[in-house]
Amino acid sequence: MATIGNDILQAKKLLLEGELVAIPTETVYGLAANALNPEAVTQIFVVKERPSFDPLIVHVASIDQAQQFITAVPKKAIQLARHFWPGPLTLVLPKQSIIPDIVTSGLSTVGIRCPDHYLTRQLLSELPFPLAAPSANPFGYVSPTTAEHVNNQLGHKIKYILDGGPCRIGLESTIVGFENDQAVIYRRGGVSEEEISKVIGEMSYRLASSNPVAPGQLDSHYAPNKKLYLGDINELKKEFTGKKVGVLRFMGNSDSADTYQLILSQSGNLEEAARNLFAALRQFDQMEIEVILAEPVPDSGIGKAINDRLRRAAK
Ligand code: AMP
Ligand code: MG
Repeated sequence: MATIGNDILQAKKLLLEGELVAIPTETVYGLAANALNPEAVTQIFVVKERPSFDPLIVHVASIDQAQQFITAVPKKAIQLARHFWPGPLTLVLPKQSIIPDIVTSGLSTVGIRCPDHYLTRQLLSELPFPLAAPSANPFGYVSPTTAEHVNNQLGHKIKYILDGGPCRIGLESTIVGFENDQAVIYRRGGVSEEEISKVIGEMSYRLASSNPVAPGQLDSHYAPNKKLYLGDINELKKEFTGKKVGVLRFMGNSDSADTYQLILSQSGNLEEAARNLFAALRQFDQMEIEVILAEPVPDSGIGKAINDRLRRAAK
């Protein structure tokens, strides 16, 4: 079983030996390996049972370190990195050959970001290589936002989980690529489009549900084991009379008649809702219910990313 602790030296030692270590970030927990070591990176795909066509994000300590792994950086990418790093924004940029093909699923671009968590930043600054790290969960399942989530699913397959507490954002990073020097959003996430457009102006979208540009943009993802239905909860309840349902509400208090109910944010705060979403989906999987009935949250700011995850959990 994995050891859980906050010993950076132990994490560093294992990573130097080519082992995997689960790491905390502000978005979700990652399953990390030396990004420059193809054998180590292969283990990520084995442990997660992740198909090799789904590329990994490379995590770096700084903009300076990122520059060693990418070429031809558009001006807007530099503006975004300066504004949002460290933070929940992944930039997809042409890669240098030092990044092994297995990391990028053979693509000529690499997804790269500087995570905002003091333990992982410390670790990255002490390592002589960047870390390839997807979310630390079995492929397709809900991402982990605590060390315990990681341990429950992958604890028997890895040696060490660096515990940095619950994730501050709770949703994966926003992914931005560049086509003809124009920014394109590939995945909604921790940085909202409103925030991005304040820095670089107009951008376009190529989200999973429309036209996948990257092999990793899978439509059904981030899903609990129980079937989730998204819509108006009162309407959905009529469809499922006689079934044991779990109800996922955006806001309010718990004085309703529902036996199995979770509320993302009592006060209706979208950031708080994002932080609680994945833990709530995991909780429903542990409850004696048959289906999850969820309502969309207000579609602004990080609410758009929450609704994206709810839609994909519902497929
Ligand atoms: P995860 O870290 O588990 O959220 O997965 C990383 C995701 O980043 C992948 O599923 C892709 O959608 C995206 N990604 C990583 N590298 C690239 C790339 N080179 N081009 C486009 N998308 C990428
Ligand atoms: Mg993932």
